[in-house]
Amino acid sequence: MLSVALVIGLSIGAAHLAGPRTPTDGPPAVSQAATYPTPGIEAADEPLGTPAPAPPGGGVHEFVALQDDGVTPVSYDPCRPIHYVVRPDNAPDGGSQVIRDAVARVSEVTGLQFVFDGPTDEASTGSRPLYQPDRYGDRWAPVLITWQTEAENAEFLSDTVGEAGSAAVTISGEPKVFVSGVVDLDAAAFAGFLAEPDGGAFARAVVLHELGHLVGLDHVADPDQLMYPETRNAVDFASGDLAGLARLGVGTCVPHL
Ligand SMILES: [Zn+2]
Repeated sequence: MLSVALVIGLSIGAAHLAGPRTPTDGPPAVSQAATYPTPGIEAADEPLGTPAPAPPGGGVHEFVALQDDGVTPVSYDPCRPIHYVVRPDNAPDGGSQVIRDAVARVSEVTGLQFVFDGPTDEASTGSRPLYQPDRYGDRWAPVLITWQTEAENAEFLSDTVGEAGSAAVTISGEPKVFVSGVVDLDAAAFAGFLAEPDGGAFARAVVLHELGHLVGLDHVADPDQLMYPETRNAVDFASGDLAGLARLGVGTCVPHL
C-alpha cells in the first residue's frame, strides 16, 4: 500500500501567530492600518453552518494552536466563509476534483463554509502576506492551494507530499482566529497516486489530512486517525479527527477582524 509522510507547514502559521501581524492592544479599528482589511467583511450574525455531530465517545485529536485558556482551539471564524484559490500550474489529471471533494468533506464535517474563488497565479512563499488588496481586494487573502514541483519545494524531495497551515490574528480581548492559510501539494506524488486503481480515494485522504491542518488539527500518535503523520489505508477522517473537527467548527465569531 501507499505510505507517505505528511508534514504540517507549521512555519506558515506559527510565524504569523507570534509575528507583527498580531495587534495586541488598542481599539479594534484595525482597518485604519494599511496592513489589515476593513473589519467584518462578509461576517454574518451567526455561524453559517453546523458541524456534523461528533462520534459518541470522541477520540484522540490535537490542535495546532490554543486560545489563552489553554483549552479552546484556535479556529476559523464560523460566521464568514473561507475563500480559497488554487494555483493550477502542475496540477495532475483529476487533481482539481480531489481538492473539490476534500473541501466538501471538510465543510460537511466542520460546518465551515468554503467558497472557491477560482485560479490564481500567486506563488506560495513562506512569508505570504495575509492582506493583499492589489490582488484580492479589501479582505483577508483567500486560502492558497498549490501544486508544487520538487524544484519549488525541497520538502517534496522526501516522502513528504503535502504541507499546510493557517495564520491567526487577534485583537485585544478577543479570541485568536485563523484568517488565511496555505496548502502545498506535491504535484508529482499526486500524479502517481491518481494513476493507481482507487488512487483517487487515497489522494483525497491526503488532501483531507492537509485540510485538517489548515482548519486547526495537529498530528496524533494514533495510527487509526487520519491525522497520524503518515497516511496508509485510511480514506476518511476517523473518530478522533471528527471530534476535533467538530470543535473547530464552533469557534467564536470575531466580526472586529
Ligand atoms: Zn500532517
